[in-house]
Amino acid sequence: MKLLLVCGILMTMATASAQTAATRNAATPEPVAQDPRAVRAQDWLTKNLGWLNDEQVRITEIPAPPFRESLRASYLRKLLSCCGLRVRTDEAGNVVAERPGEKGNEVVLVTAHLDTVFPAGTPINVRREGTRIFAPGIGDNSTGLVALAALARALGEAKIKTQRTLVLAADVGEEGEGNLRGVRKLMDTYGNRLRYVIALDGASTDHVTTSGLASRRIEIAVTGPGGHSWADFGVPNPIHALSRSITRFVNVHVPEQPRTTFNIGEIEGGTSVNSIPSRAAIKVDLRSEAEAELDRLEAALREAIEAGMAEELAASRDRGVASGGPNGKLEMKFRVLGVRPGGELPESSPLLAALREADRSLGNRSRLERSSTDANLPLSVGIHAISIGAGGHAGGAHSLGEWYDPSGRELGLHRVLLTVLGIAGMEALPEKLSDK
Ligand SMILES: [Zn+2]
Repeated sequence: MKLLLVCGILMTMATASAQTAATRNAATPEPVAQDPRAVRAQDWLTKNLGWLNDEQVRITEIPAPPFRESLRASYLRKLLSCCGLRVRTDEAGNVVAERPGEKGNEVVLVTAHLDTVFPAGTPINVRREGTRIFAPGIGDNSTGLVALAALARALGEAKIKTQRTLVLAADVGEEGEGNLRGVRKLMDTYGNRLRYVIALDGASTDHVTTSGLASRRIEIAVTGPGGHSWADFGVPNPIHALSRSITRFVNVHVPEQPRTTFNIGEIEGGTSVNSIPSRAAIKVDLRSEAEAELDRLEAALREAIEAGMAEELAASRDRGVASGGPNGKLEMKFRVLGVRPGGELPESSPLLAALREADRSLGNRSRLERSSTDANLPLSVGIHAISIGAGGHAGGAHSLGEWYDPSGRELGLHRVLLTVLGIAGMEALPEKLSDK
């Protein structure tokens, strides 16, 4: 399975670079910033920054916990519908708007994730301090969502028609255990028509994500007989067992190069202070720049869990509980919650050229970055994809103290617009994108 995955990635990387070599010269996008239609669209964005700021707050106030994005989705459907666009909601829950281009068989997908990491019931009180707006999810990813809506309007107002078909989507399942199911569904829908993917995620304009960080999310549950804390002392305790395992696992050495990380992000179990619990569970996030390191880390995790359980059973024997008997057992369930394959955008990708051209014309400097985003999945199968911020500044992502500062967001919006136009091509310039 794992070997197949690695081979698959190597093969798709080879395909991607061959494809790029063939299209390199022909598909290099021309500067679009000076085109009067692009100027009109940029003007629209500049004049409507107040609208963007207000809508961003409104979006944030609609909760979108993992697997429960539908309320926010219907609001995005409304926001996207008003631009003469046909908007639908697909089976996965993605909100999808299509702007057909002359080349209907070539699709550029611009997508922003709807979901937040915050569970249902998290209070969302939007608070302002100076230019900063504080609220969970305000940056990640209300910034991307409002930029998507603004992009639809700016293109509509400037009456821009593109060569490639533009698909604008607010997708589900990017965070946590969503396992990229939204973008997976979009890839299924558009199949081999899907040429380029631009994910709008977060705020900053100083980077472009061109490498997908491989990650695995795993839940480990340990179960045992349970019992009374005093009367049954010695019966193996799943919390004790997991604690022993965790102590081992967090001491595992991970390399700096390729950068590899782990996090035990959730722990639960037990029913009362004076009961030996019958179940305890942890959720673990493993990430690496190299798939092979992830394999090693996952193996180390399994080993640590087994060793911790063995140690707890040995302690239980020492305390007089017959091992293997009805009270001397522990069981473990190892469940993979999500797998994000890694992938790389070829340096010579026309999509990267379009982004760089946008940066050049806006006087923006950005560096290449590796991250775990909606772009992972297309990158893992050789579809050219990037993830970029949509402007402004943000901090505290995935925490209750998250904030967003819209100062200077215009730059990010123009960068998104020009990148999209650069790769989708405008109607009047057919000869410039003939990369067949
Ligand atoms: Zn995000």
